[in-house]
Amino acid sequence: MYKLMKEQNLNWVDLEAGDPVYQSDVVGFGISTEILYTNVLCLLNLMRLEIRSEKRKASDPIILAGGGGLANPVPLMPFIDVFFMGEAEAGLRPLMDILSSDLDKNEKLKKASALPSVLVPKYHNGETVRWATVKELDIDDAPVEQIVPMATVSHDRAVVEISRGCTRGCRFCQASQLSRPVRERSPEDIFKIISGAVHSTGWEQAGVLTLSFSDYSRINSLLKGFSQLEESMHLRISQPSLRPDTLPSVSNRKFFKGSLTMAPEAGSERMRRIINKPLSHDEIIKAAETASKMGARGVKLYFMVGLPGETDEDIVAIANLADSIAKIMGRKRTVTAALSPFVPKPHTPFQWCNQSDYKELWRKIQLVRSSCLKAKVAWNDPRVSIVEHFLCKGDIESQDILEQAYLKGAVFDGWSDQFRWDVWEDLLTAVPDFSPEDALPWDFVDTGIKKQWLKKEYERSALEEILLDCREAGCSHCGGCDGVVLPFPQSVSTTNETAVLSTALPVERIRLRYSKTGLSRFTSHLDMVRMWTRILRRTELPVYYSTGFARRMKLVFSQPIPLGMGSESEYLDFQLMKSVKLDQVLNSIRNVIPTGFEITAAKKISGKYKSPGSLTVAAEYIIDGVDCTEKLIEYLGLNQLVISVSVEDTNRVNIVSDPRKGTSRPDRILEAAGVKWKTIVRKSIFATDHDGHLVTLMALAEGEVINEG
Ligand code: SF4
Repeated sequence: MYKLMKEQNLNWVDLEAGDPVYQSDVVGFGISTEILYTNVLCLLNLMRLEIRSEKRKASDPIILAGGGGLANPVPLMPFIDVFFMGEAEAGLRPLMDILSSDLDKNEKLKKASALPSVLVPKYHNGETVRWATVKELDIDDAPVEQIVPMATVSHDRAVVEISRGCTRGCRFCQASQLSRPVRERSPEDIFKIISGAVHSTGWEQAGVLTLSFSDYSRINSLLKGFSQLEESMHLRISQPSLRPDTLPSVSNRKFFKGSLTMAPEAGSERMRRIINKPLSHDEIIKAAETASKMGARGVKLYFMVGLPGETDEDIVAIANLADSIAKIMGRKRTVTAALSPFVPKPHTPFQWCNQSDYKELWRKIQLVRSSCLKAKVAWNDPRVSIVEHFLCKGDIESQDILEQAYLKGAVFDGWSDQFRWDVWEDLLTAVPDFSPEDALPWDFVDTGIKKQWLKKEYERSALEEILLDCREAGCSHCGGCDGVVLPFPQSVSTTNETAVLSTALPVERIRLRYSKTGLSRFTSHLDMVRMWTRILRRTELPVYYSTGFARRMKLVFSQPIPLGMGSESEYLDFQLMKSVKLDQVLNSIRNVIPTGFEITAAKKISGKYKSPGSLTVAAEYIIDGVDCTEKLIEYLGLNQLVISVSVEDTNRVNIVSDPRKGTSRPDRILEAAGVKWKTIVRKSIFATDHDGHLVTLMALAEGEVINEG
């Protein structure tokens, strides 16, 4: 798409109105990792803007950036006008008030630079910028009306953040250092957000966002509430994996659906002490035994290679641990050891560590692979981690290198098929070895965590000493909060609830006819099926769900049409648990139906049920922009593929054919005839009535009808 937009000089437009993004007053980037930096430069270019702020015009939009990937913003400073550092709820509003005021661009930036947690490179002279954190997670800040994609995406579900922060203190983890202390939403707020998000989106699934699910302090009431919500809203709430040490206490099988993920991070107990993830070997094995007993289909284990103090024994220990778990799970189930090259990150106790070079990281990955007998091994490309390390510790010099890398073609660095090591290899310079006494390029970003505390943790790691979670062992004065923390989580106790299978039967069946025009003709049939379940969920009509364990809406559609074909006669049947007036059904659907789709008729069906597909005997299509109607007519004359054909005008042809026959599909006929066309629209679908006459499906005498078309 990027290539096409450049070649055809197309604008990058916004979702809501299709307006060019460069016409915005402010363009904000949420940046979660350093590997996305070249994408930011690529999008600045796509907006036809100079990538360097100093070269941009006063009339150009203000470029704003924020997010967890900016703990060290130095590499991006020449390209971004203003950064908001930290958690947006803690101060983004005053900044947006300034950026949306009538001041001119420079005055806005000058005024904004005085705000806490705001970094305006143009006016920054090394002052400290505080990484913002909120004291509490306010329910009003939770996104409920979330954007629902028409096509399938990863994480295609409503998302609710149940807690923020983690104080387990893994020494490699930047997220836990940037988001101390732990703040939680109450179970009541979480349930409100989930039901609000599901009602406004129609999503059939919700996902939980947290750094450590099993550390949620009221986990048992949360899990209980999730079960009730799943039952009452026909919803699936996918939960992140629980920590290995909490798994054995879980007896509910739903936690073991699919593949279980565990993150030991290191293979030996020695290494886990060094990284301060003091899981014992027995705890991990016991968790695997529980998973095996509870029917998990496989186990995915996350490990890092290249950690400080690591020996080859520790590397082989990764393989041994993975193989032990593979032995427990048995040959029919997959156990994968997923290896990530260690990236020492700023603002963590390991910020003073340097990264192993490519050759050494690759040797260690090979050592795990050659030592693993039973488990599968997957790994992230160490070259990408080397670029990530360079950028996350970038100083002033990294800015030109980043720009050069982009100009030489590095973009989408996070995707293995796009990553340009050839570009980066030529440009990268060595990341300096920093000692605890050195000034660090990111020291001006104050996360609240005392440098002295990080240094102490760094020393403890060298001594293989652990530091327990302050929620368990009391405050160790990291500086992350005022010392008042949430209680340590309860142990997870779940009961093996059996779902109450509903036996209630539907009372009514509705048949809709709707059109699919404009851009919506590029919605595939499968995406449309998903779209309709979400539309009907948003209506809150008492739609009937199948009985049984996985309860689904029973939707019946007319024959699918190919992607790109428009239609004025799509049909959908669904059932209701309670009788609802037809016009009420129509109105509630019209309130939530996406642009490009329109209900044109509806009826209640009674008597013996026949699906739209089984009733259909013919369909009428209008083909516009035909480049040679004569050639088409000649071809149809030779091949009996259609019921009738008529030429409406020089470029418009009307075909009636039997949609049950693949060969009679108009697009296939046109291709076979070697004829070009612009658009095809399915105008009507026909059935035969009691007298054998062809009538549209909606005209079939099958009960009360509201016909708008
Ligand atoms: S200041 Fe103390 S209580 Fe607060 S996060 Fe740090 S260690 Fe925990």
